[in-house]
Amino acid sequence: MSLCNPVIDSYECSGCEACVELCPEVFRINEVTDKAETIHVQVEKTDALLEAVAYCPEKCIVLE
Ligand code: SF4
Repeated sequence: MSLCNPVIDSYECSGCEACVELCPEVFRINEVTDKAETIHVQVEKTDALLEAVAYCPEKCIVLE
């Protein structure tokens, strides 16, 4: 499985938590900012990760 670096545009993130629910091994909510952040820099490009990217209502997650 290939690796990627998920990047979140924090300005656009609404903190809806959809990405955390779909892919909790990659995303978490920062308790200070109430926005999503990644737990690791490099992660495996799993179906759950692709689903989280697709379902983000703000379309603010990019895989680099
Ligand atoms: S799904 Fe998108 S808008 Fe919602 S918390 Fe995650 S990054 Fe932010």
